[in-house]
Amino acid sequence: MDLRDTSSEAAFRAEARTWIEANLPGELRGLRGGEPHFEKLGREWSRKLSEAGYAGLTWPKAFGGAGAPYSHQAILFEEMARVEAPQHIGVIGLGMAGPTIMAHGTEGQKTRYLSQILSAEEIWCQGFSEPGAGSDLASVRASAEVRDGHFVVNGQKVWSSFAHIADFCILLARSDPSSEKHAGLSYLIVDMRAPGVEVRPLRQITGESEFNEIFFSDVRVPRENLLGEVGGGWAVAMTTLLHERGTLGFALTAALEVALGKLCALARERAAGDPLIRDRVAREWIELQALKHTNLRALTGLMESGIPGPEGSAAKLRWSESNQRLTKLALEILGRDAVLAGGSGVDGYWQYQQLRSRGNTIEAGTSEILRNIIAERVLGLPRGR
Ligand SMILES: Cc1cc2nc3c(=O)[nH]c(=O)nc-3n(C[C@H](O)[C@H](O)[C@H](O)COP(=O)(O)OP(=O)(O)OC[C@H]3O[C@@H](n4cnc5c(N)ncnc54)[C@H](O)[C@@H]3O)c2cc1C
Repeated sequence: MDLRDTSSEAAFRAEARTWIEANLPGELRGLRGGEPHFEKLGREWSRKLSEAGYAGLTWPKAFGGAGAPYSHQAILFEEMARVEAPQHIGVIGLGMAGPTIMAHGTEGQKTRYLSQILSAEEIWCQGFSEPGAGSDLASVRASAEVRDGHFVVNGQKVWSSFAHIADFCILLARSDPSSEKHAGLSYLIVDMRAPGVEVRPLRQITGESEFNEIFFSDVRVPRENLLGEVGGGWAVAMTTLLHERGTLGFALTAALEVALGKLCALARERAAGDPLIRDRVAREWIELQALKHTNLRALTGLMESGIPGPEGSAAKLRWSESNQRLTKLALEILGRDAVLAGGSGVDGYWQYQQLRSRGNTIEAGTSEILRNIIAERVLGLPRGR
């Protein structure tokens, strides 16, 4: 098996690399989601990406995408991560809402929403999790009562990334109050500026606020904002979740490679003679190589079927645990300087990375849930429940 880029992939990589280097403003390198200028700079950067044809690379041409193979998307993620360029600000629109609208939306919905997602004119958030429904998503309690020609939404969502800057939310709510679990759910597109929608940012362990609580009080949602059938929301939500981990592994792995490069530099500077540290750094390098190959295996399946397979769960699991180990090791190497950050001769990079990495084993599926998926769908073991 030849794991190198094909000639067309190599040409695409060179073109993307040149474009990113010429167009990425220095102030955007390493820009974090919780930083004050994130929205303004992120929107500008995303518009540029879009105008250059780099947004929605794998979206069909009929919907304004480039119709490119998934390998190009993976290459673009790698090239962006290599120089610490922020992702398109509309990651939820591009990666989740858009593909779901393409699969289940009416012609009117496709025309209304897809081009605005690509151009970053409209930003989306995902309103799935609730205080009592995370891993067990089918326990959703937010209600969407059907009332002559529209829905009335009440309830609370939590951990909604980008909700504080979002224009629309993909919402999973219970339209049949007597239903249980997967039945009786409906999938709605909710205008975040509609009366009765309140967003409260949550402060994270990093001190930044990237995600939010959303409260819905008698929010009127027009019938044409229903995706799929009334009561058929679970199947629509599965399309969204299937795409959540799609080619994401490449972006995450490339970012891990950048972090590993920084870890090596730190280890050389501060712990060059320590064989135990060398051993642990080497372990992370080996893990990274395995991760890259897992991603390629997942990509092969994706390119053959067009549908992300369960291998994405393995990549997400290994990446998240590797990132936590790696950032923890960096703090150990920093020693007592690890408690310092900003204005103290220590730039705070590793302190931030370690704190942010805590959420990696929770977001987009907890490690326990991913292990269940791998056990059942990759290894074919009996179902746990
Ligand atoms: C940074 C970040 C961003 C997020 N962004 C969004 C977003 O934009 N939109 C959104 O809707 N949600 C978002 N989430 C929420 C995320 O999807 C949930 O936190 C996640 O699904 C876990 O749900 P929970 O927090 O309710 O934990 P729970 O499901 O209550 O889990 C608690 C613990 O029990 C374990 N557990 C649960 N069920 C099982 C089982 N069957 N077998 C074994 N162990 C189990 C879990 O692994 C975990 O350790 C985000 C979360 C984070 C951290």
